[in-house]
Amino acid sequence: MRTRFAPSPSGYLHIGGARTALFNYLLARRHGGTFVLRIEDTDRDRSTDESIAAILDSLHWLGLQWDEGPFYQSERGDVYAPYVERMLASGHAYRCTCTPEEVDAMRQKAQAEGRRPGYDGRCRDRTDVDPQAPHVVRFRTPDDGETGVNDLIRGPVLFDNREIDDLVIRRTDGSPTYNFVVVVDDAEMRVTHVVRGEDHLSNTPKQIMMYKALGLPVPEFAHLPLILGPDGGRLSKRHGATSVLAYQDMGYLPDAVINFLARLGWSHGDQEIFTRAELIEHFSLDNVGSSAGVFNGEKLEWVNFQHLKTLPAPQLAAAVKPLIEARAWQIPGNDAWLARMVATLQERAKTLSELVDAAHYYLQDDLTFDAAAVDKHLATASPAVLGDLRAALASLTMWDTAAIQGAFERVLETHALKLGKLAQPVRVALTGGTVSPGIYELIDVLGKDRVLRRLDHALEMMLDRGQGSGARGQE
Ligand code: GLU
Repeated sequence: MRTRFAPSPSGYLHIGGARTALFNYLLARRHGGTFVLRIEDTDRDRSTDESIAAILDSLHWLGLQWDEGPFYQSERGDVYAPYVERMLASGHAYRCTCTPEEVDAMRQKAQAEGRRPGYDGRCRDRTDVDPQAPHVVRFRTPDDGETGVNDLIRGPVLFDNREIDDLVIRRTDGSPTYNFVVVVDDAEMRVTHVVRGEDHLSNTPKQIMMYKALGLPVPEFAHLPLILGPDGGRLSKRHGATSVLAYQDMGYLPDAVINFLARLGWSHGDQEIFTRAELIEHFSLDNVGSSAGVFNGEKLEWVNFQHLKTLPAPQLAAAVKPLIEARAWQIPGNDAWLARMVATLQERAKTLSELVDAAHYYLQDDLTFDAAAVDKHLATASPAVLGDLRAALASLTMWDTAAIQGAFERVLETHALKLGKLAQPVRVALTGGTVSPGIYELIDVLGKDRVLRRLDHALEMMLDRGQGSGARGQE
């Protein structure tokens, strides 16, 4: 099995293109086949280097590694030229000197007479065209009969050959046209399965006719249904970000994005969460439906959360590190420390960006205090109790959650207090707010120095406000 992804580089890689790439990748991996990448950049006006870079970056990020390529159509003129000659020699193509104005006039006339507008075939049987004079080469499509596409997703689809014009395969400037080079490339690259968006279905009969004319084996075809936005309209920017790299920037995990993309059209029982290995193991075109997939941003978020929460902490740490660095925040510890930090937040964030937001008090010493939290928990706390806790923590020789819990228990017992009465003011002192992981974990990961400094700072705040008598624990 040989599959390919053949993007036209006229923009970023969007959700629909990424799904097409994914299905081709999965199919090749599932069957031990080959996944080819081909950049369809024959339209020089619309193709840009930035777009090529964005497409390659997106595929790298999603981990959709191709086995051959990238091939660039713009560099393959020499491959296409002999095929045009072959078509001419076999009588499947002919030279046409009709000017664009003449072709336009034909269309208008046909329209006025209630016929299907198109090229009327007037140069078909001419033998007098000078190959040196300006001309295009047209493919002579069959006059009658039908061309069937046995689509692997939608079943047989028949096209009336009379509806299909003699299409230009080589322009006046000598450049070959889109449908023609796709056929030559898919044949040259020995593609066995052409899996692409439904918007290409109308090209398929033309391409099949050309395979046959060239005596080339016709590949299998599968046309993927459209992706719609939640309102039922075709997915577009108004439904949110449609560029794959935007999801990288927003802190999504590549494995979550491919899981989500796979489910846009494909299913495996009622399973929703798949690892990459599971997708490869189960993927099959048999389970791709023919109705449109609906893009749902909330579901993507949920899928991301499911992946995020089960990711091993060291991997998650590696994934968040660039986002922390992008904010120019210093990481106050090594990679092992960062892994401990993310482990405490793993179930509290749906995206990597949310996780970094939540981690601000681990990563920045300059806390922003939430005024309401200070009023509610710190302003009402007893400096004596907090001072005792400070002293108990300062005296610990082991720093782990069990030892920290022991220190809390001793202070609570001395003052006959419940944990909540102590944990909330401590949480505000250490984080600036009331939301954080479990208090022992938080203290453990923050580390002794930072905890003591922050408690001192909170005690100072309390004294400045005239709370209590300044009972500061002893070091
Ligand atoms: N280049 C086409 C596109 O980006 C795909 C052509 C194909 O897959 O045959 O839509």
